[in-house]
Amino acid sequence: MIPFSDLRTAAYCPRKLYYERRSDRNPPPAVAERRDLAYRYEELVDAPDAAFAGLPTEVPPERYRRNLRRARDRFDDWAAVADPPRRDVFLSGKDCRGIAHKVVEDPPRPSLVSPGSPPENGVWEPHAVHAVAAAKALAWERERPVERAYVEYPTHGVIREVGLTTRKKADYRTAVRTVETLDGPPPRLQNREKCDPCEYSDECGVKTRTLRSLLS
Ligand code: SF4
Repeated sequence: MIPFSDLRTAAYCPRKLYYERRSDRNPPPAVAERRDLAYRYEELVDAPDAAFAGLPTEVPPERYRRNLRRARDRFDDWAAVADPPRRDVFLSGKDCRGIAHKVVEDPPRPSLVSPGSPPENGVWEPHAVHAVAAAKALAWERERPVERAYVEYPTHGVIREVGLTTRKKADYRTAVRTVETLDGPPPRLQNREKCDPCEYSDECGVKTRTLRSLLS
C-alpha cells in the first residue's frame, strides 16, 4: 500500500523520493503552524489587519481576506471546508493510503492542506496527484465515485478545486508506477524550479542557484 506522501514526492521528482526513503527527516514545526491557518478561515475572512500580526500568512491582510471571500462566494462547500466535520482522516484505498486533512460530505470530497504557496492557477502537479490519490481512497471506502477534491494553501487564503480529469488520473497512475518500480537512484532532473528549493540538492549534487552563482 503506497503512502500518499510517496506519490506526491514521486510526482515532484523520483530521485527525491529515493533520498526521502533513506532519510529520517521530519517536517519542521512551521509546517503545522501554517496548516493550522486552514481551520481559522471563518475568523480571518472578516478580521481586521491587527488580527494577522504574528500569523504565518504570506500575503497582506487585504489580499488574504479577498482570497478567502472569493472562495466563500465560489464554493458551495465553503462552510464545511472552513469548519470540517472530519479532520485528519485516515483513508485506505485499493492502492494507496494516508491522511486527508479534511473530509466534507454530500457529496464526499477530501481536502489537502499545503503549507506552501499556490501556483498562479490550479494546483501544483504533486498536489494534484495527492488529491487524486485521496479521492480514489475515499471512493474505495465509500463504494461510490468521488470526482473532486480540494487543495488549500492557507498561508495565502487560497482554496482550489481539483477535478479528477483523464489527464490527472493518468498522472496519478504514472506516479504509482514510479513508486512501485523505484529501485536505486533515478536520474537527476534538470529543473531549476524544482532543484533550487529541494532539501536534497547537496546530496544529489545538482548545481543550485546558490552554487551556480558562486561558480560563475
Ligand atoms: S535536487 Fe533536483 S534532481 Fe535532485 S532530488 Fe532534488 S529535485 Fe530531484
